[in-house]
Amino acid sequence: MTQTENRNVLHATQIVIKEALGKLGFGDDMYELLKEPLRLLTVRIPVRMDDGTMRMFTGYRAQHNDAVGPTKGGVRFHPDVTEDEVKALSIWMSLKCGIVNLPYGGGKGGIICDPRQMSFRELERLSRGYVRAISQMVGPSKDIPAPDVMTNAQIMAWMMDEYSRIREFDAPGFITGKPLVLGGSHGRETATAKGVTIMIDQALKKRGKEVAGAKVIVQGFGNAGSFLAKFMHEAGAVVVGISDAYGALYDEQGLDIEELLDRRDSFGTVTKLFKSTITNAELLVKPCDILVPAAIENQITIDNAAHIQAGIVVEAANGPTTLEATNILTERDVLLVPDVLASAGGVVVSYFEWVQNNQGYYWTEQEVAAKLQEVMENAFENVYNIHKTRQVNMRLAAYMAGVRKVAEASRYRGWV
Ligand code: NAD
Repeated sequence: MTQTENRNVLHATQIVIKEALGKLGFGDDMYELLKEPLRLLTVRIPVRMDDGTMRMFTGYRAQHNDAVGPTKGGVRFHPDVTEDEVKALSIWMSLKCGIVNLPYGGGKGGIICDPRQMSFRELERLSRGYVRAISQMVGPSKDIPAPDVMTNAQIMAWMMDEYSRIREFDAPGFITGKPLVLGGSHGRETATAKGVTIMIDQALKKRGKEVAGAKVIVQGFGNAGSFLAKFMHEAGAVVVGISDAYGALYDEQGLDIEELLDRRDSFGTVTKLFKSTITNAELLVKPCDILVPAAIENQITIDNAAHIQAGIVVEAANGPTTLEATNILTERDVLLVPDVLASAGGVVVSYFEWVQNNQGYYWTEQEVAAKLQEVMENAFENVYNIHKTRQVNMRLAAYMAGVRKVAEASRYRGWV
C-alpha cells in the first residue's frame, strides 16, 4: 500500500455518517447518537456437537436505532464475524431502511462459526440456541431478524419455531426470509439480486447504455451473486466472470451460467470443480462494463481501484469498497451504486413479508415484483438527484438520503 487506508468498516461508516449529517445541517449531538448502535448484546451459546462434545459459540445482536420503528436486519454465520462488523452492518440497515423509506430502524446479528464445517443438526441447535439467547431483545414489533451470509430459509424456519415455542404463540412476523409454507413471501429469496438488477438498469440508463450485450463480472456466487448472474444472463447481458471464496472464472466470450448454477453448492461454491481458475484479485480488474462485488468487505481498495475496468460498479455486498477506493472510482468517473442503496431489495421484500404476516393475507409474485420495482427505482432516482444537485459522490448521497429519516425521527422523539 502506498498510502494508509481505513479498512475498519465501522470507522469508515462513521466518517460518512458524520459528513452526511453535516451536509443535512444536523449537529454533533446527532452524530453522537447515530455513530454507534443503541444496544449490542453479546451472547455465548453452548451447542452439543454430533460427537458428544460441547462447544461454545459467540454471537451478537445489534440494534442501531429504533426511533423510526422496530429494528430489522439479517443474521450472519461466518468465522470472521466481529463486534465492529455487526455494529456497522446494523448502521447500514438503518441507512437502507431510510433510503427505501421503510418503517424500520437497523439491526443486525452474527455468530462466529463456520457452517461449512457443521452438520445439519449442529446448525439447528446453534440457530435455536441463538434465539433463546437473544429472545428478550427481539420480536415482531421490536427487532426482526432475516438471512444474511451463510444463513438461509431453513435456518429462519428453526429460529421462528424456537421463538414461537418460547412465546407460546404463532409468530411468523418474528423473522423474514422464511420458506413459503411458513409465511415466507414470494420473491424474498431472489429479492436482493432483483434489486441489484434494477440498480444496474438505472445506472445503464444514466450512462446511455443497454443491458443487452453488456459484459458483467459478479464476485461471489451465493444468494446475491448467483441469482444476479442468472438474471443478467436472462436479460441478455454477457456474464464474463464469477467467483467464490476459492477462486474465480473468467471468459470474455461469456460463461455457461446455467451450468454453473446447476453445479454450485448451497454455500455458493463452484470454482473448486474447475482446474483453470484465477484469483478474486485478478478477476476484479478484468475487462467488463459492469462490476458487481457480491461477496465480502474491502474488496475494492487503493490497491486495485485505479485498475478496475468497469464503468459501472454496483455493490451487492455490504462494504466491498473502502472510502479511499470510492474517491478513486469517483475521480475516474466510474458510476458507483453504493451498498446501502444497491442491496436494499432484500430488506424491501423482507418488509413485504412482514406486512403479509401481520395481515395474514398473501400477495402474488407479480405484486411483489411490481412493488419492489417501484420502490427501488424511486430510491435510485432520489440518491442520483442528491448526487447531482449537491455535487457529492454517490455514497455520500445515499448516506444523506438514508440518515435523514432516522435523524428526524430521533429529533421528534426528543432524543437529541
Ligand atoms: P452467501 O453466503 O450466500 O454467498 C457468499 C458468496 O461469497 C459465496 O459464493 C462465497 O463463496 C463467496 N465468498 C466468501 N468469501 C469470499 C472471499 N474471501 N472472496 C470471494 N468470495 C467470497 O452470502 P449472500 O447472502 O449472497 O451475501 C453476499 C453479500 O451480499 C454480503 O455482503 C451480504 O451482506 C450482502 N447482502 C446479502 C443480502 C441477502 O439478502 N442475502 C442482502 C443484502 C446484502
